[in-house]
Amino acid sequence: MMTDETIIEIKGLTRTYRVGNREIPALQGVDLSIPKGKLIALRGRSGSGKTTLLNCMSGLDLPTSGDVVFDGNSVTEMSERSLVELRRRRLGFIFQSHALLPTYSAAENIDLMLRLADWPVNQRKPRTQEVLAQVGMGSWHDHRAFELSGGQQQRVSIARAIACKPDVIFADEPTGELDVATSERVLQLFRALAQQEGMTFLIVTHDPLVDDFVDVTYHLVDGRIAEKAIA
Ligand code: ADP
Ligand code: MG
Repeated sequence: MMTDETIIEIKGLTRTYRVGNREIPALQGVDLSIPKGKLIALRGRSGSGKTTLLNCMSGLDLPTSGDVVFDGNSVTEMSERSLVELRRRRLGFIFQSHALLPTYSAAENIDLMLRLADWPVNQRKPRTQEVLAQVGMGSWHDHRAFELSGGQQQRVSIARAIACKPDVIFADEPTGELDVATSERVLQLFRALAQQEGMTFLIVTHDPLVDDFVDVTYHLVDGRIAEKAIA
């Protein structure tokens, strides 16, 4: 899909944490236009502001100053209720901690997300099977999350994030626990979803393999974008 539509516009974004009487400037003025339907990597040392930037982009955290505009809507002007709706229907999350419900099966973890996004009952089961198959977990349907290995949990959490066909996926080290072959499979899936469905992927990563798949890489240094490299 060829498009130069912008899905997220970040303007003069700062985020300062207050700890006691100290101020920690996690983001010090970030301006970015995130194009729709692309794979974007965010790199930077620990503490450079990557997680803070993802959280501000997804409305999980609010800027100290500046703004994030998601598909024309300013997150600083949205009600908490609209932010919840936005996250349920239009955003997908792949956290480092996986955040699966441990006693739910792989399928139940995914079904829960589809239910929260009001998917019709008769589409939930086939969609769940489809996304589990896409990450190579089709035969692990009924296994409870706590029974799965770290890498398998990571794959279920990827399946869960894409299940609702969100506009944007936020991924913190999505290949961190996967072997090379599985990482390539997942990154190929991301590319296909970007090209065919117009999904946008924001990937925080240290994995050099990811460079072969992304369209753009941004480097964060001390809360600022240092350079932009086009792959
Ligand atoms: P990264 O994800 O690149 O490691 P973070 O966004 O987590 O970076 O952190 C950026 C800076 O903000 C760091 O100095 C970190 O210690 C600080 N920070 C992050 N979250 C908090 C918080 N909740 N309270 C106080 N300081 C924080
Ligand atoms: Mg982080």
